[in-house]
Amino acid sequence: MPPLIGIQVPVVSLVDEGFPQTVDRLNELGVNAMFVATQAFDRGVQGRRAEFRPWPGHGPREIDDHRGGAYFTQHAEYYRGTLLGPWRAPDTDVRGVDVLEQLLPVAQARNTRVYSFILENTHSGLTRLVPNWSKVLQVDAMGRTDNYACIRNPDYINWMLSLVEDQIKSYPIDGLMFGSERNGPLGNVLEDGGLARDGRPYCFCEYCVAAGERESIDSQRAAEGYRKLYSLATGHDDPVEAGDSAYVRFWRLLLKYPEIIAWEQFWHRGYESLLKRIYGTAKFLNKDLQVGWHIWHHNSFSAVYRAQMSFAEIAEYSDFVKPVIYNSVAGYRIHAYIRALCKSIYRGIDAQTVYDLHRQALGYDEACKFDDLPGRGFSPDYVRRESARTVGAVAGKARVYPGIDVDVAAPDHVIRTTPESIGESLSAAFQAGVDGVVISRKYSEMEVKNLESIGRTLRALGHA
Ligand SMILES: [Zn+2]
Repeated sequence: MPPLIGIQVPVVSLVDEGFPQTVDRLNELGVNAMFVATQAFDRGVQGRRAEFRPWPGHGPREIDDHRGGAYFTQHAEYYRGTLLGPWRAPDTDVRGVDVLEQLLPVAQARNTRVYSFILENTHSGLTRLVPNWSKVLQVDAMGRTDNYACIRNPDYINWMLSLVEDQIKSYPIDGLMFGSERNGPLGNVLEDGGLARDGRPYCFCEYCVAAGERESIDSQRAAEGYRKLYSLATGHDDPVEAGDSAYVRFWRLLLKYPEIIAWEQFWHRGYESLLKRIYGTAKFLNKDLQVGWHIWHHNSFSAVYRAQMSFAEIAEYSDFVKPVIYNSVAGYRIHAYIRALCKSIYRGIDAQTVYDLHRQALGYDEACKFDDLPGRGFSPDYVRRESARTVGAVAGKARVYPGIDVDVAAPDHVIRTTPESIGESLSAAFQAGVDGVVISRKYSEMEVKNLESIGRTLRALGHA
């Protein structure tokens, strides 16, 4: 079977540059699968380029009006029984466009598979526009409503399954990819929410507390432990204990409140359960549909998250996995991650030491001066290693399509991808034995010279 050559495409690009014209252009590069964002509140996969990036040489120069929501025609009958009804994206530049209806005949006539990409992210806060969304939100350890939906809230789960059922029954899609870029409360607190969120400890909503009780986890002890951890991570913990380092106090808390770890893994089980239900629902409706997961970049930086996201286990409910292995932007992202940890549990330890420990613990040959990371990025060797690790872990049970960095948006001081670097990272992935690639993260931000490099490299590798 020839490798899958996928690319993530926002709806607005298809409207801006034409449905058949875009598919033809991508086919010329060797693309045989389009991952189109059908449900997203996140500009990372939807909309034109980021405002702070220059025009990539195709599409309009103006920035679009991105709001987010569904980019296909939702059918009300699938959303009965959930507070969250259909919510069509009100973006003015794509208003009234049903991306699946328009793309499927054009793509399938050109032997190009269409994968629907549902991205759960709500970093943008745009879900505040959706009626009743405020009623499915998490609750933190202080009892405050959080900005993210709870993965155990029945209305939220049913809404997600409604989207899946609606798409599969209404459109002849070839595949479905679901992505979520958030983690459990432990990681969220320790890294102050990462680049996109705040560092609140969650979730203690009524559904989580009840489910915790059924699993014999003391939610009150967990909440108390997380309140103390939040104080420690934000530098507001007990001054009497300050004679010990933050790292020692972190361990003291874990030993005193094992419920902290229990609640972290409990959150993760809820997340896994959502993925399993999406998988089972999709396969029940169409057993031939290819169902898989966008595994966010955090998997490359956090040992805790990596320990939870065992690809060997994920392979049991996946047809494919797309680990994000964006090497150029990886330097900037791990730099931010390590800096956040150095403000919480590694307070007082220099960032170089923490980075050196982490890169070795994660298995990367990426030694460098810590502050050079954003301008240096990670090498193609990182792409090879992470691809090979994933291929080894799934052991043939799921296909592996790593996400390849092509102009992923980042501030000016961050290294940019080049035609050469893209050629090297694509080659490194195939060297590791992957079943395909997903060119990421969105066509609208990819520069013309870099798109051309994809075609050249794939032809040289014999894949186009
Ligand atoms: Zn909850």
